Amino acid sequence: MNRHVGKIIPAVPASAAPEIKTVHFADGRLAREWKTVELMINCYCRGHHDTDEVLCPECQQLHDYAAVRLERCRFGVEKPTCAQCPVHCYQKVRREQVKVVMRYAGPRMLWQHPVLSLIHWLDGYRKAPEI
Ligand code: SF4
Ligand SMILES: [Zn+2]
Repeated sequence: MNRHVGKIIPAVPASAAPEIKTVHFADGRLAREWKTVELMINCYCRGHHDTDEVLCPECQQLHDYAAVRLERCRFGVEKPTCAQCPVHCYQKVRREQVKVVMRYAGPRMLWQHPVLSLIHWLDGYRKAPEI
């Protein structure tokens, strides 16, 4: 199998190997959102880069980037889903990568994690607070 098929496009310029980021959210909803994001990136990486427990470096970078964005989200516990966000703090290239991941992992998550998928879908109706 061509390992480059399904590579997240467009690629981000290569940088030094990132330190693997571990994150913990005290707020239940943010923790659940983060778990959903992690599962989606894992699903995408497994399906495209022949990985199992450990992400490939490219997906690990996206994972770590998403973790920082969520940790620093200006809306805190009031945050809407990123897809509904009026600000969108992601770099353009990262936003495109996340869309690719969601497009692939979203339907698969419905079968593998139906409850998380349902809650994430419901979260999509949250309004962002006034800024
Ligand atoms: S895109 Fe919006 S909701 Fe998502 S982390 Fe950035 S500021 Fe928060
Ligand atoms: Zn990967």
